[in-house]
Amino acid sequence: MALLIAGNWKMYKTGLETALFCTALGGRVDDLGSVDVVVCPPYTSLDEAVQALGGTTVEVFAQSAHWASEGPFTGEISATMLAELGVTGSLVAHSERRQLFAETDETAARRIDGLLAAGLRVLACVGETESERDEGRTEEVLARQIEAIAAVVPSAERTNLTVAYEPVWAIGTGRTATPEQAQAAHAFIHSFLEVPVLYGGSVKPENAEELLDQGDVDGALVGGASLELESFVAICETAARVGS
Ligand code: PEP
Repeated sequence: MALLIAGNWKMYKTGLETALFCTALGGRVDDLGSVDVVVCPPYTSLDEAVQALGGTTVEVFAQSAHWASEGPFTGEISATMLAELGVTGSLVAHSERRQLFAETDETAARRIDGLLAAGLRVLACVGETESERDEGRTEEVLARQIEAIAAVVPSAERTNLTVAYEPVWAIGTGRTATPEQAQAAHAFIHSFLEVPVLYGGSVKPENAEELLDQGDVDGALVGGASLELESFVAICETAARVGS
């Protein structure tokens, strides 16, 4: 199975910037080799991304979605609305949503349910904070987060589910889990859920190979380094090489 590289753009890139980036990415993708590529722009840039990447293999995901298909939820966007745009999946429960926007295991599970019911793919994020790791609670935290996800996705319906292991202390900090730390966490997650597990946390062209080379690492969720075309393409090229 090809490795998956997903770019989480967070609240970066206007529609115009997205169109330029995605047009250029679409022109490079045929040369990348065997790698699955996803970009996750902000809501207001999703349409531009879908248009610019039409006819390529690159998929466009949102960064979150409400669980209801419609309703009195001011400021929210549903999976049904995303599907109509041509978006094929969404991140769920990124640590910034858990830490800054009150995402819980319970709301994450509801979002996952809504997305899968709408026929979309899910990239669900889990990961421990620095203090949880220091207290030796990494496996306890991962088990709780993974069990909440597994509970809403019956085994037969997991083809559209991917997990991202993102240690919170490594996101946007320049600190990366060692390949051994990533491998151990991914193997632990795989013991609960047989779905692809991506690593996320300061992945860059310089460290992508050693992380992607680990047996239980099925790809990467890339934040900062996905915002610049050359660094994102370099990580995708590494994944194609490592995964072949
Ligand atoms: C992320 O936002 O999911 C992420 C992993 O960010 P960064 O690569 O910048 O650490």
